[in-house]
Amino acid sequence: MVLTFKGGFHVHDGKELTKDKELRTAPVPELLVVPLSQHIGAPCQASVKKKDEVRMGQPVGEARGFVSAPVHSPVSGIVKDVKAAPHSSGGRVLSVLIENDGEDTLYPGVGERADPKDLSREEIIDRVKNAGIVGLGGATFPAHVKLSPPKDKPIDTIVINGAECEPLLTCDYRLMMDSPESVILGADIVRRVTGAKRLILATEDNKRDAAAVLEKKVAELGLADTSVAVAKTKYPQGGEKQLIKALLNREVPTPRKRGLPMDVGVIVQNVGTCHAIYEAVAKNMPLIERLVTVVGTAVENPGNYTARIGTPCSVLLEDAGWERATALLMGGPMMGMAVYTPEVPVAKGTSGLLAERIVSDGDPRDCIRCASCVEVCPARLTPLDLSVASESQNWEIAEEYHVDDCIECGCCSYVCPSNRPIVQQIRHAKAALRKIRSAGSAG
Ligand code: SF4
Ligand code: SF4
Repeated sequence: MVLTFKGGFHVHDGKELTKDKELRTAPVPELLVVPLSQHIGAPCQASVKKKDEVRMGQPVGEARGFVSAPVHSPVSGIVKDVKAAPHSSGGRVLSVLIENDGEDTLYPGVGERADPKDLSREEIIDRVKNAGIVGLGGATFPAHVKLSPPKDKPIDTIVINGAECEPLLTCDYRLMMDSPESVILGADIVRRVTGAKRLILATEDNKRDAAAVLEKKVAELGLADTSVAVAKTKYPQGGEKQLIKALLNREVPTPRKRGLPMDVGVIVQNVGTCHAIYEAVAKNMPLIERLVTVVGTAVENPGNYTARIGTPCSVLLEDAGWERATALLMGGPMMGMAVYTPEVPVAKGTSGLLAERIVSDGDPRDCIRCASCVEVCPARLTPLDLSVASESQNWEIAEEYHVDDCIECGCCSYVCPSNRPIVQQIRHAKAALRKIRSAGSAG
């Protein structure tokens, strides 16, 4: 049986450019810029000030509220400033600037080992929360929140997302190949904490070698009720809802109905998040580094890097032999966001840096109603109508056509023969509606 979902399409993935290259360690710069907002939810509050001495792994930003995650110093050194700095959102965000002393002196307690089996459920959730772990697949939702589902939403299955369907990105693939044990043990911690019975480690059929590595490790570890599933290679197979449909044939209610995977008894965690959860629980390591794929037509030597959070993207790009590109995206070609300066730092949600020489293949033209965008839309929307509604700033119509259910996968823009920037128009409509709703609720 082919494990898949309706909509989406197969796209040349370009993963051969980086997938088999040895993991590199990114240079650690003299100055790191740690944004206080790196997650979905309330930004952190700085817990250090200018001239403070900090150690590696020390909290420098405190979480405010349950849906928030602290941030930590990725090096030891001195706080140079706490001020607004360039951020992947396109603006400037309050950030802690740290001068690296090159010593990597650890904050007390960081790196202290524990056997996860000796820790209670509450202790594990506390460790994950204090380590500042968020969804590393790009969603950046605080992980401890997902580990605490409400009592009326029992979880029977944990799905570990190693689909990495975004073209060109291979950092999740490398993690599965190089560190299968920490991914699986992290996943097992998620299963234990949520009370789920079944664990499914999922990838796509263009990564069968990673599936084999995971299968071998599961057998070695002797984990019961744990399987490895291989879904069809199709974009956006790694979307939570698409993955749940493909593996379990369960339909997550739409975002309009505030539907979440837990409504159908499932929690989905990315492979990188599981690795980070294991590091936090078993080694008391906060999230201060992550894997980043650096690739694109303007990159001479593409590859995967382990990079400290707060490292300016320019450091990785220089190391990979970057010619100053006309376009720089954080993330992959489908869902990545354009960044306006390479000085934007690597953050918790940075899975890739894509530097491209050529960005446009023509100006947008009128819709020819070919319906290609409808065919590929995995959320079963009519992107052409959303595009036109946004263009004419008719937010009511956009709402009527369920713009909130769009997962921003970019499939529609990709296939549109008229080069219409549909996903950007949809983002614009969503932002306008958010503004209208918040003005309404304030009034
Ligand atoms: S970006 Fe939104 S509208 Fe376009 S294909 Fe994806 S889900 Fe559908
Ligand atoms: S793919 Fe483009 S041209 Fe075709 S219907 Fe959709 S918006 Fe119109």
